[in-house]
Amino acid sequence: MNKPLILIVEDDPPIRNLISVALETHDYRFLTAPNGGTAIMEASSHNPDIMLLDLGLPDLDGVEVIRKIRSWSNLPIIVISARSDDSDKIEALDAGADDYLIKPFSVDELLARLRATIRRLNQMQSDSSETSEMINGPLRIDYAAGCAFLSEKELRLTPIEYKLLCVLARNCGKVLTHKFITQQVWGAAWENHAASLRVFMATLRKKLEVSGDAPPFIQTHVGIGYRMIRAGNAPDSGAHDIP
Ligand code: CA
Repeated sequence: MNKPLILIVEDDPPIRNLISVALETHDYRFLTAPNGGTAIMEASSHNPDIMLLDLGLPDLDGVEVIRKIRSWSNLPIIVISARSDDSDKIEALDAGADDYLIKPFSVDELLARLRATIRRLNQMQSDSSETSEMINGPLRIDYAAGCAFLSEKELRLTPIEYKLLCVLARNCGKVLTHKFITQQVWGAAWENHAASLRVFMATLRKKLEVSGDAPPFIQTHVGIGYRMIRAGNAPDSGAHDIP
């Protein structure tokens, strides 16, 4: 991908300028939108590669913008918001946001998130030619055969553990909420499965441990959910992650 096009959605001019200057300095192309209505219009007419989205907008709430965009596009959306409650993050992620950055944020952190998202986009493009297998560091999933390997040794997973692993792998790079994961794995009201998810996640991680350490490619986002990252990529998501 050469010179990704970023859509900056932000009603606060100083923050919009700060982000614009940072992107320009780092050789990104960008568009700006000061409200939700313009954001949706720009997204549909210019087909940007990534959207940076403030939630507190003068016309539409940012979560509403995510829902509208998601009805027709998989455009990666990184929320940048002052709303720091877990419930706000969960609402935005469940609506379809890919990542969440809390204001005040550092420009370096923003650039790191952008690089991670671009890596994921590039990876998705190369994966789409061969969707029957997923390789992530020592982990290999053979979707066609329905089995997974760690350092080429077959993992003995229960059907639920395998399903859980596949949901994480197929959404590699995205923060997945507990609700999303349980809906994908059990396909039912997640409240009944929150405790089960914790248990199955613990047993899955135990099986994925590399020489006694927690698998480096699964992050826990306390109170929110989990994310699989590409092994070998430095964690790029800040202090709310624990290994
Ligand atoms: Ca705002």
